[in-house]
Amino acid sequence: MWDILNFDRLRNMLHKLRDNFIANLLKKPFQQEDELCLYLISYTSLFFGIGLRIFFLICYLVQDIQFFVFLNCGSLLVYGAVFLFLKRKKYKPGGFIIAIEVILYTSIWVYMCGIASYNAGYFLLPIVILTLFPCGAPKIRRSMVLIILGAITLLGLRSAHTSPPIVFPEDFNHFMTMVNLYIMLIGTMIEIGINALVQFILSGVKEGRLVELASQIYTDPLTGLYNRRYTEIYFNTLRNQDQHICVAILDIDDFKQVNDTYGHLCGDEVLVFLSNFLQSNLRKTDRIFRWGGEEFLIIMENITICDAQSVMDKLRSKLAETKIKTKQKGTLGLTVTVGVAPFDLANPDASIEASDKNLYIGKRSGKNQVVI
Ligand code: GH3
Ligand code: MG
Ligand code: MG
Repeated sequence: MWDILNFDRLRNMLHKLRDNFIANLLKKPFQQEDELCLYLISYTSLFFGIGLRIFFLICYLVQDIQFFVFLNCGSLLVYGAVFLFLKRKKYKPGGFIIAIEVILYTSIWVYMCGIASYNAGYFLLPIVILTLFPCGAPKIRRSMVLIILGAITLLGLRSAHTSPPIVFPEDFNHFMTMVNLYIMLIGTMIEIGINALVQFILSGVKEGRLVELASQIYTDPLTGLYNRRYTEIYFNTLRNQDQHICVAILDIDDFKQVNDTYGHLCGDEVLVFLSNFLQSNLRKTDRIFRWGGEEFLIIMENITICDAQSVMDKLRSKLAETKIKTKQKGTLGLTVTVGVAPFDLANPDASIEASDKNLYIGKRSGKNQVVI
């Protein structure tokens, strides 16, 4: 029970969660910091808004207050349109429509019901967004804040002098008051939280912390080799080179049997051994990627297909003669099958497919061999 209140653990957990979130965020190609900011705030506002409108819709359906049922359906349609904007990376107009929706919805609500359930507080959410986030030119943002303040004053004055057209039943009004207070609190906390996260990311970029995070995205945690995600970036660095390049796919033979006989941990040890073996027996310029479970992709620059075959065959026979010492289960042997093909920079996928086909041929004709 007290474990739950272990704040160090909680803090570590939150940091891990945040780092994973940032690492995932970094996979998206943002052009500028502003775009990252707008992406976060517009998507969060969208999902927060949709959740809220659905919740209100259910409340009004239960209470059978038709005017607000229609109003919330209309809002959901608007959010549907906003989603289309955000999918096309049009964060500014998307965010702008959300702000207008919140302002109009709140104005209509206050106009129809007065300020009985602190509903006017919803004006605060767009004000905080307009103040903290670069969602539009400063002039427009300032004008919108003024419009909101004007609306609050006019609607406040009106509700002080006129009785509202719709009056909620007393119990429902209490319920809405409580709900509104919580939602405003949560909404403001989310907005401030996103702002803090963005500042953290931006300062992290300066400290080089994110370089470390980005490198985690592109490496395989078990072997430390580059993973499949990095290949595209690497292929781009190869562009415009006038030289022979070859690609090889190397797959461990009967690896499932290694796992079945010696256990998964021993299998992992073998994968680490093989990755070290490849790195120490190939040239520094050869790039090795962990392509899949027990498959490795190797890009060899400045080499003819015949030389690539002989390099791979030497590697294969050396490995076949090596006794692998494992911590888990003593010594064991390993063979690999390799498919090699010329690498065409204009069509990396087809080249990899060609080497994969050769690998398949090698597997079908007895394994432990190199096929070009
Ligand atoms: P083949 O000679 O035809 O390649 O047979 P294979 O047994 O090597 O190939 P198969 O595709 O049948 O099995 C691959 C195995 O690799 C199954 C999977 O459990 C294992 N594997 C994949 N990734 C890992 C890993 O990270 N660690 C361990 N220990 N095993 C893994
Ligand atoms: Mg295999
Ligand atoms: Mg395989």
